[in-house]
Amino acid sequence: DLSHKVILYLDGITVSFDGFRALNELSLTVDAGELRCIIGPNGAGKTTMMDVITGKTRPDSGKAYFGQTIDLTRMTEPEIAHMGIGRKFQKPTVFEQLTVFENLELAMKADKRVRRALFARLSDEQRDRISDTLKRIRLTDAADRVAGLLSHGQKQWLEIGMLLMQEPRLLLLDEPVAGMTDDETERTAELFVSLAGEHSLVVVEHDMSFVEALGGKVTVLHEGSVLADGPLKDVQADERVIEVYLGR
Ligand code: ADP
Repeated sequence: DLSHKVILYLDGITVSFDGFRALNELSLTVDAGELRCIIGPNGAGKTTMMDVITGKTRPDSGKAYFGQTIDLTRMTEPEIAHMGIGRKFQKPTVFEQLTVFENLELAMKADKRVRRALFARLSDEQRDRISDTLKRIRLTDAADRVAGLLSHGQKQWLEIGMLLMQEPRLLLLDEPVAGMTDDETERTAELFVSLAGEHSLVVVEHDMSFVEALGGKVTVLHEGSVLADGPLKDVQADERVIEVYLGR
């Protein structure tokens, strides 16, 4: 049964900076096809967790598994990226001088399986892949526009499209709707919901209305460990979560 296959398993991860535990025996499991939100106050360890998954930070102890068996803590950042883990940071990074289409084309060719085709004409199949992605990120009409002229929200969608061109199995997204308009935020929620199932998503987010719109399971981090997890309404009603957010 595919719906219960684990895509990510963190097993007792500890990361210390000068003796301070940014992650403290953090354990968490994400199922394949899930859309998981990670919330928690500043300093809870959300960024450090993403850094461990992508190989940017090596834990002092604990393991991070991709699928059932692949140990991420033994791999380099590029190896992890090539295996199908895509990360998007908070600020959009697109090639501002290139068109939307060219940005997606470049992202597709950055995949080492098709890199040798860098100077070759696009095949029909490659064009179709770009068209499908343009539709998905709602930028079909902007395909020939220079990326620098897009709105902030459109740039974020383009960067997500660039990640999709590399066919990731797991997408890690850091505050994707920060700075977006309400309308853009709503469209981003629709996009993420449509990506779940086919992809697995881990979203670090502060915007609770966006977290609610995503509708998935929520994990609350606090002082480097999981404080609570479950549906948003349950974690919001959890005494310990209320204490952490509102002070005591
Ligand atoms: P969050 O993303 O939830 O705000 P972080 O993972 O960025 O939390 O940080 C967790 C804790 O670890 C914070 O107290 C932060 O100051 C500390 N920290 C993070 N990275 C470093 C680093 N490179 N050196 C020292 N301390 C760090």
